[in-house]
Amino acid sequence: MKRILLLTTGGTIASQMGDRGLVPTLHGSDIITRLRTGYPRFEFDYEDLMDLDSSNIQPEEWKLIARRVYSVLPDYDGIIITHGTDTMAYTAAALSFMLESLHKSVVLTGSQLPLQNPLSDGVTNLFTAVEAIASGITGVSVAFNRKIISGTRAVKVSTMGFDAFESVNAAYLGEIFADGTRLLNPCQGGGSPSYPTTLREEICNDVFILKLIPGTRPEIFDALMEMGYRGIVLEAFGAGGLHYINRDLLGKLAMLSQRGIAVVVCSQCLYERCDLSIYDVGHRILDQGVIPGRDMTTEAAATKLMWALGQTDNMDQLHRIFDTCYAGEVSLIATPSCPIY
Ligand code: ASP
Repeated sequence: MKRILLLTTGGTIASQMGDRGLVPTLHGSDIITRLRTGYPRFEFDYEDLMDLDSSNIQPEEWKLIARRVYSVLPDYDGIIITHGTDTMAYTAAALSFMLESLHKSVVLTGSQLPLQNPLSDGVTNLFTAVEAIASGITGVSVAFNRKIISGTRAVKVSTMGFDAFESVNAAYLGEIFADGTRLLNPCQGGGSPSYPTTLREEICNDVFILKLIPGTRPEIFDALMEMGYRGIVLEAFGAGGLHYINRDLLGKLAMLSQRGIAVVVCSQCLYERCDLSIYDVGHRILDQGVIPGRDMTTEAAATKLMWALGQTDNMDQLHRIFDTCYAGEVSLIATPSCPIY
């Protein structure tokens, strides 16, 4: 028998139609009956933490959730967090860093249609979350459309489709088939048993994501600096390119690193890695002291930077943090391939 706690935060799964669209109004008491009916041999408790559209779930809410999870962890085998899908990937990644060395299963889930809609995916997603816990997957994960995804690899890719989340640059942790739950990558995510689970809830809000377009004006970096941003995730082109002819972004990167502002360079491409060693322009970027984002999702890079800046403002330490994999968020060693250049 498993003991599972359901924490509710709102989202479509808990929504009903109001005068002006969907509003999260259902509570744990409405959702838990579905879990108890599906898994009568398991014990479920619930707590309502908030009832928000996830557009309003921000670092203050991450802290509240992380603290609550941390304090109840000893009492349960696993925790299911119902959450809106729109920012679920950010919350999942943030919790993955804030709950360091997590040896139990914390699973976020939600749905594309409200639980009370006859066509809802909510019940299947809730049951997938239970399966994640029952099959012993540790760490923070996202359960959606019969798939279990590491919290640091989940990305929302569809606004309407039921297959709304993908595991980017990592195998699914598990997937439900007709013959049961297949564990595909069970080691990713959870912490080493030799380290105790630690709550590291300090988060720096002053992080900005900048997606370049051809012709982005360099002065945008002056504006971000004046606004007090301490970290920038730069979504560069392809394997990691930016312009420096006509409009010199490189000079601005140098200025940022001199002022102690951390810049993590990721790719605008959803899949595969940002590799600054391939092109001349990549080497020029590296020379400015930026942090390579490697194959991290933008969601993981941004939340990792927010979390890292919550721990330190020392640039060498920030580089070390980004050279470390905490929760399956990054592949530190590139898959070996024959050089073709
Ligand atoms: N707007 C909703 C939310 O993120 C969407 C959803 O839950 O699917 O809260």
